[in-house]
This record gives sequence, structure tokens and C-alpha cells, in this order.
Amino acid sequence: MKAMVLHDPYRIEDRPLKQEEVEMPEPKENQVLIKVRACGVCRTDLHIIEGELKPIKSKIIPGHEIVGEIKQLGYGADRFSIGDIVGVPWLYSTCGKCDYCLSGRENLCQNKKFTGYSENGGYAEYTVANQDFCFKLPKNINAESVAPLLCSGIIGYHALKSAISKGEKHIGMFGFGSSAHLTLQLAVKMGYTVSVASRNRDHLDMATGLGAKYTYKSDSDDMEKLKGTLDSAIVFAPVGVVVMQALESIKPGGTVVIADIYTTPIGPLDYEKHLFHEKVLTSVEANTRKGAEEYLALAFKFGIKPVYTTKKLEDANDAILDLKKERVKGSVVLRVQTDF
Ligand SMILES: [Zn+2]
Ligand SMILES: [Zn+2]
Repeated sequence: MKAMVLHDPYRIEDRPLKQEEVEMPEPKENQVLIKVRACGVCRTDLHIIEGELKPIKSKIIPGHEIVGEIKQLGYGADRFSIGDIVGVPWLYSTCGKCDYCLSGRENLCQNKKFTGYSENGGYAEYTVANQDFCFKLPKNINAESVAPLLCSGIIGYHALKSAISKGEKHIGMFGFGSSAHLTLQLAVKMGYTVSVASRNRDHLDMATGLGAKYTYKSDSDDMEKLKGTLDSAIVFAPVGVVVMQALESIKPGGTVVIADIYTTPIGPLDYEKHLFHEKVLTSVEANTRKGAEEYLALAFKFGIKPVYTTKKLEDANDAILDLKKERVKGSVVLRVQTDF
């Protein structure tokens, strides 16, 4: 089968993903073989490909926003039938027996595995996944428009839940990529007031179109007006300075949630400006299956859809370069197998 393989992480400008013919994966116990229809490109893929996240394996197929069709069942795999459409997220597996796993916080399991990072993912014609970590999707969906929900959507929802946990009403979103534009739509449908800050004028215009009440150009004097106005904030941009801006923008008692797996250094923090008055700074890590299922149900109920562009599987390097250069509006999705 055809796959885009990462051997050594380096800058995406030098095209580190290589198109290769690799062996078809075999589903092992409790696993399913999936024919990949579409795979979203997540910013985490960029961090894996460029090595900001340390390599776990010498060779990996990235991609963790997978939508595809079940083609084969491994021994004991009985949750799905051949022909079912499933989504595969970032969380590939957990240990199932640690305190985190047993207390509903499996996203913090220290022995978890990751799709497209510790295990091969969806930048390939086929992939295998653990049946217990896949989500059943309606048969008639458009795979391309659902793929970005599988990480950008799920992680954004996880962050949103932290941001609204104390009854907050006015939420700020800093940075406006794939995850933010999906999370904005959901927050607006749930009745929250959302402000968006970004240095990209096109992104701010899109935010307004998707329901943001106020927008702020983050590299301008606009940011002065934002100070102290938000109940809570979610930082989507993987930039430490933006975390500081977000902390200055929340009211006393507010929360800033970092929705990234990687960020440039934060600080130094000024206690009075950034943390005093019981401000909370937190982050999100991966997803629980329960949280993901909750999100997917809400996304389908409210009709949350990404704004997206597609690229062919073999053009994955270009797709990720576009993401890095901020040339993407909304999400970018690899169209993998189309003969269905
Ligand atoms: Zn565990
Ligand atoms: Zn992701």
C-alpha cells in the first residue's frame, strides 16, 4: 500500500515525508483494519515531523484524524462489522489499569500510545486501530468534513470544558486554526460569547463569519482593549507570548487553557499581572473516549463542520507546509482512498 513515511524529523520545507510502498498492516487481537478515506492534518503532525516532539520510533506514518471503512477484523474484534465507518483519534490505547485509567482520566495514563506518533497512523491507504478506541460514524457522512473533528474538534472541546467549568460566559480564543474554528462554532451553538484574537486578518474575518462577537488583531493596539474582559481563554497558538496575553486578558478568577501539545517557552510571568487574583493556568492532554463520544454527538447534533481544503495523500508535505506558513483557512484534509 501507499504511505507517507517519516524516517528522520526535519524541517517541513525539506519534505521529510517520503512516499513509499509499505506492507499492508495486519489487525492483531482486538484490532481492525481500516481503509482510510480521509485523514486530517493536525498541528501536532507538524511538531512530530519537525522533531519538536521527540521521535518514539525510527520510522512512523503520521496522521490521527482518520475516517475510514472497516475492511478486516482481528481476533476477538467484535465491536464493529466489516463495512462500518469509523473515526480514529490521537489516543491509540491506554494501559487500562493505572489510577488514571480507573478514574475516568485515561487521557493522563502514562502508558498510553498515540496514533501517528507511537503507532502508525492515517497518512496511508490502510491503517490498523484498536477497536475500543475507534468511534462509529454514520455511513452517509462526508469523510473529509468529519476527519478534522477527530482531533481538532475533540481537543478543542476538552479545552472548552475546562474554560467553562466555573460557569464562565465570555470565552476568548487565541489563534484561529483548525481546532479554534471548530471550537468557536460549538461554543456559539452552546450559547457562549466568544472573542477571537489572531494576527491573521483573514482568520479574524472567518471568525466573525462563524459567530465570534469580537475580534482582536493580536499584533496591534487592539490587545489593550481586550485586557481584563474575558471570563476565560483558550490558547490555540503554540506560542508562549500568547499565553501571557491570554493571562492578561482574563478577569480575576479566570482560567487560561493551553490547547497545545507543544508551545514555545512561556514567561517570565509577572505574578501581579498574570497569576494573582486566583487566575488559573492549565493545559489539556489527549482525550478520553467518553469526552470524544460526547463531543462527536454534540458536533453531529449542531451540524459542526470545518471550513477545509483537501490535498492528495502524496502531497502531505505541501499540506503541512501550508499549515506552518499559515496559508490554511480552517482545516486541511488529505483525501486518501476515493473508490467507495
Ligand atoms: Zn493507564
Ligand atoms: Zn491532533
